[in-house]
Amino acid sequence: MPRKNAKILDGLDVNLRFLKEIGVEDLNRSVEGKAVKPGTPKPAPHTPQGGGDGTPKPAGSSELDELHTTILACRLCGLAEGRTRAVPGEGNPRAELMFVGEGPGRDEDEQGRPFVGRAGQLLTKIIAAMGYGREQVFIANIVKCRPPDNRVPLRGETAACTPYLLRQIELIGPKVIVALGKTATEFFLPDAVGSMTSIRGRFYDWKGIRIMPTFHPSYLIRNEGNKGPKKMVWDDMKLVMTLLTGP
Ligand code: SF4
Repeated sequence: MPRKNAKILDGLDVNLRFLKEIGVEDLNRSVEGKAVKPGTPKPAPHTPQGGGDGTPKPAGSSELDELHTTILACRLCGLAEGRTRAVPGEGNPRAELMFVGEGPGRDEDEQGRPFVGRAGQLLTKIIAAMGYGREQVFIANIVKCRPPDNRVPLRGETAACTPYLLRQIELIGPKVIVALGKTATEFFLPDAVGSMTSIRGRFYDWKGIRIMPTFHPSYLIRNEGNKGPKKMVWDDMKLVMTLLTGP
């Protein structure tokens, strides 16, 4: 078998195993009832264009690049002291779907990219199972520099850093933001009370954008033997897919 085909089949196998693990029983049907193969990319109305090949960049992308240059040099809060690299975020500058986590971990700090460690690999699988590639969505964090020992960012650090996130959201203009975990959920939904189990499972309106709070992939990894949270995350992602692709 040609190597390229074997690679594609390996990728499909990973997606199928992930979907089975989280309790997706009918692998031939999408949430809309149309037959799809898991991992098949959906048409992306906001597919990134331009850059290295001379085609024009999407509106807002150069401003996003400038913002990211500012973030890379930022020393507004104490987290600058311990970082290797700031991690502005990455993806489609016109993504309709954004994922926002808490902050970079060790792998992210070393590579300067969001969600590339173990939790990131799980998020990448979730995104693939939804039919998207990482390059079609935008992935960012509440704080752009790694908190020491992966502690929760302090209030002052969040206050110093979140104007960057707000500007990213303004430039990208997503339809849906998935808030991954407690820190991101508290930022977007400060009035939501209760556990993640009770808050998740429905959309909230935030400045005209739909927010879907759900468990952070790190939580899923910490509770690996428990299929419940994984199933809940997948249920949440199905709601997101339905909203983005229509009934
Ligand atoms: S966490 Fe944010 S505000 Fe603090 S130094 Fe890094 S980029 Fe600047």
